[in-house]
Amino acid sequence: MKSGPLLSPTGGLRIGILGGGQLGRMLGLAGIPLGFRFLFLDPAPDACAAVTGDLLEAGFDDREAALELGRQVDVATFDFENVPESSARALSELCPLYPGSNALGASQDRLVEKDLLVSLGARVPLYHEVSSRTDLLDGLERLGYPAVLKTRRFGYDGKGQAVLRDAEDLERAWQKLGDSPLILEAFVPFEAECSLIGVRARDGDTRFWPLTGNVHLDGILALSKPGGFEAGLQAAAERIMTGLMDHLDYTGVLTIEFFLHDGELLFNEFAPRVHNSGHWTIDGAETSQFENHLRAISGLPLGATGLAAPSLMFNWIGQMPPLAGAMEIPGLHWHDYGKQPRPGRKIGHATLTAPSDEALWERAERLARIAGGKFPALLGKLFSEA
Ligand code: AMP
Repeated sequence: MKSGPLLSPTGGLRIGILGGGQLGRMLGLAGIPLGFRFLFLDPAPDACAAVTGDLLEAGFDDREAALELGRQVDVATFDFENVPESSARALSELCPLYPGSNALGASQDRLVEKDLLVSLGARVPLYHEVSSRTDLLDGLERLGYPAVLKTRRFGYDGKGQAVLRDAEDLERAWQKLGDSPLILEAFVPFEAECSLIGVRARDGDTRFWPLTGNVHLDGILALSKPGGFEAGLQAAAERIMTGLMDHLDYTGVLTIEFFLHDGELLFNEFAPRVHNSGHWTIDGAETSQFENHLRAISGLPLGATGLAAPSLMFNWIGQMPPLAGAMEIPGLHWHDYGKQPRPGRKIGHATLTAPSDEALWERAERLARIAGGKFPALLGKLFSEA
């Protein structure tokens, strides 16, 4: 275990973060003006969050490193949910950890997660546990084609999953995924995808940002636009999240992703952390998800979560579009994570804000043309859902 230089205490709270990716970086960027200091634990020597604090360079399964983090900070949290629950539990014996390791555990297994949400009264797509080839055939008999086969653990951004449309897909997917515990889900022909981000303070005060419409490309989030959903859907999503927060005795930011199908919300998954579909809150909300997460875990009052301006976020995956052209668009807010570009890697995002929805669409079309690729077509999808 190696450790970067540590700052001497200045009176500011020291926050430990398991994970030093872009979510950690944006937590750091939100926390510096509040006077917080940060220590990240991450195996990557070039972890992009480290520009906002110090880095403890070690594996997430390194119990000693987790304990070291716990000794050096006042409060801890995490920036991704595949940290082993055992590291989180060890850390939580030395300093407060928000949200708790129970939330981490519940979100790490898609089967446990869905069973939990069903028990809390949420509607979920039909699903079937798959531990053998026979289970898979039984599941397909029950759910029919098309269906989605997913690993129960360690899946993210569409990794560890395959859509099954026929028996050939079944063989290919079984070859690829059959060694892991799996879950089979009915394929949902959704009208739209959306997510709810909420935050609960240590004293129980709870706030929600507006439901956000999301468009994915190859399982990776490409575009997010907050607002425009019926009040009844917002209330339904908030009810489900409140139930989950109560159950987990939750503190911090929580995200739930839904499919909108036949006018109703179907639960897809939850993340016990700040989320990519909430990046627009930095520039488009009264208080960002990052600042409110820090306020929540440090015992400060929460900030307002209303929309400050019509907003739309573009995710930069694998490559950044030309900055100079984009900068000519009014209301552009650029976020470069300082990561090495690689196919499929999230390396930055941009949020557009505008005084009206009309102006927002006009600006978004300009940015989509500059970004090229699939963006103009994806934007069309968001338009048709609006
Ligand atoms: P996930 O990692 O489960 O959120 O899946 C990534 C993306 O794949 C989702 O945001 C959807 O676009 C798509 N997807 C996942 N599960 C399903 C499903 N059961 N039906 C339709 N699309 C799905």
